[in-house]
Amino acid sequence: MQYQAPVDDMMFLVKDVFSLTERLGDIADFADFDEELYAAILEEAGKFASGVLQPINRSGDEEGCQYKDGVVTTPKGFKEAYQAYVEGGWQSITADPNYGGQGLPKALHVLIEEMFYSANTSFCLYGSLTGGATQLLQAHADDATKQKYLPNLISGQWSGSMCLTEAHAGSDLGLLKTKAEPNDDGSYSLEGSKIFITGGEHDMAENIIHLVLARLPDAPAGPKGISLFLVPKFLVNDDGSLGERNGIHCGSIEHKMGIKASSTCVMNMDNAQGWLIGPPHRGLACMFTMMNLERLSIGIQGIGLGEMSFQQADAYARERLQGKASDGEAPAPLIKHGDVQRMLNTMESFNKAGRALGVWLGSYLDETFHSKDENKVKTADIMSAWLTPIAKAYFTDAGYETCTIGQQVFGGHGYVREWGMEQHVRDCRIAQIYEGTNGIQALDLIGRKLIGSKGEYLKVFLSEVNSDLDSMPDSAHKNKVSELLTQLEQLSGKVISQSASNNEIPQLVACDYLHYVALVTYSYLWLKMEVAAEGKLEQQSDFFFKRVLTRTLGLKASIESEL
Ligand SMILES: Cc1cc2nc3c(=O)[nH]c(=O)nc-3n(C[C@H](O)[C@H](O)[C@H](O)COP(=O)(O)OP(=O)(O)OC[C@H]3O[C@@H](n4cnc5c(N)ncnc54)[C@H](O)[C@@H]3O)c2cc1C
Repeated sequence: MQYQAPVDDMMFLVKDVFSLTERLGDIADFADFDEELYAAILEEAGKFASGVLQPINRSGDEEGCQYKDGVVTTPKGFKEAYQAYVEGGWQSITADPNYGGQGLPKALHVLIEEMFYSANTSFCLYGSLTGGATQLLQAHADDATKQKYLPNLISGQWSGSMCLTEAHAGSDLGLLKTKAEPNDDGSYSLEGSKIFITGGEHDMAENIIHLVLARLPDAPAGPKGISLFLVPKFLVNDDGSLGERNGIHCGSIEHKMGIKASSTCVMNMDNAQGWLIGPPHRGLACMFTMMNLERLSIGIQGIGLGEMSFQQADAYARERLQGKASDGEAPAPLIKHGDVQRMLNTMESFNKAGRALGVWLGSYLDETFHSKDENKVKTADIMSAWLTPIAKAYFTDAGYETCTIGQQVFGGHGYVREWGMEQHVRDCRIAQIYEGTNGIQALDLIGRKLIGSKGEYLKVFLSEVNSDLDSMPDSAHKNKVSELLTQLEQLSGKVISQSASNNEIPQLVACDYLHYVALVTYSYLWLKMEVAAEGKLEQQSDFFFKRVLTRTLGLKASIESEL
């Protein structure tokens, strides 16, 4: 089935729910953009997703990436699609116009990313890493480095990779061993081996700019002794032309459950020349610029695949005839059965709220990076920090659940390859694992963000939501959201106070806590969408409140059992 970009649903968020042009209206960088432009870009992105990316999704899965003698070949059609992606300007959407970017808001870009993940997740990952590398260099590199590398990364002519993981250092990057020795000319020489590097080697871009974490000779042990280096595949001459092949090579690629057209590489560095980015020993902090962006992007992988799975399940449920419906029709389309409706409604409950949260978080990121209003930036920065682990972990947990429900709607036809439903399940599964496992996201939320800020981040979140609730008309759903926000505040207070005397508590309740906060956030967003739709979304919103939000009861009880 051809992917249908949900442009109307997306524009409903842009226009009616978040009034994006108004919300970002005082930011000079976005002054030239309006809703007409946003709609036109989404239309074009939808055409690119269904016309160029989706046709090579299944074949890409079947063929996978191939490795021979250090060279990685992407599946048939990927090179041509990548060329079209670069020519279409899809890599440069949010990047700095001073280096050739289009400077559009992240709140719009999340929607484009969703479309590309829906159509072809493996393909989308290459550009996602390049986007993260771009953002990192924009934030932390000096001017000369920016001039040298940014224009080609922003256009997509070169791609990026993020080299963190080593065989013995996964979640705990403090254990990493790759070494960087200073050279006389101010560069560094890197030795070591990284594993699981997405897009570490491929044949679609002229050059690959690796962002590598390594240790300087005088580095203290642990995470405070990590520095960040730029290591190009081909050295770049001062005039911008490509020079010698650098000493970073792909040793092999992984054979894995899904995202088979995305290369997952072992990258060996043998006297690889690199340049320090940011201050020595502060590499992990700088890398977080890239990681936070990747975390949101990977979250959107969950929504994109959930949406694709929903579209196929919904269409199939209207065609397939089985059993007797309650009105006597037999055989009836699957969609007439209450249990199939439950499945489809659950999928929509997650997809629509997740998409709304993506746009909401995107707009806070836009304020963080572009607003000149100090108070706004402070609030937006806290909101981005609070919402990012929720987006990464909950979008992907819910996305995986959504993809398996979609498979279930197809019965046995979802289990076999023919309809493509099992590929979504396989492609989605990794999103719960990489870019910091969902367990690590939950620990980040409860440890660093909730307890680490002594409840300050939660306070900002509650204040943002409550002030918006004040402007909404009274309703049963609004009362429910208010009640849950109060409960969340009380429960969080207990978690903070009891963790002070029992340091095991955060580990024990982290995942349930993240899911609980996510569902409370979704309830606010469903209410916000319901109000903006002026009566048109009540049934769907009601389903969320009655059948999905009730999961908070179990989660609360589970958390309280440890307190
Ligand atoms: C397909 C693929 C692509 C990838 N792409 C990249 C990439 O581009 N760049 C890159 O650098 N890495 C990449 N990775 C690596 C990925 O980010 C790591 O696999 C992930 O961060 C987890 O590390 P690990 O596999 O070593 O698991 P471990 O860290 O060993 O964790 C195993 C389990 O223990 C849990 N755990 C670990 N520590 C704690 C703790 N302190 N408290 C509680 N629970 C804990 C984890 O949540 C997990 O469930 C990729 C991996 C894959 C499979």
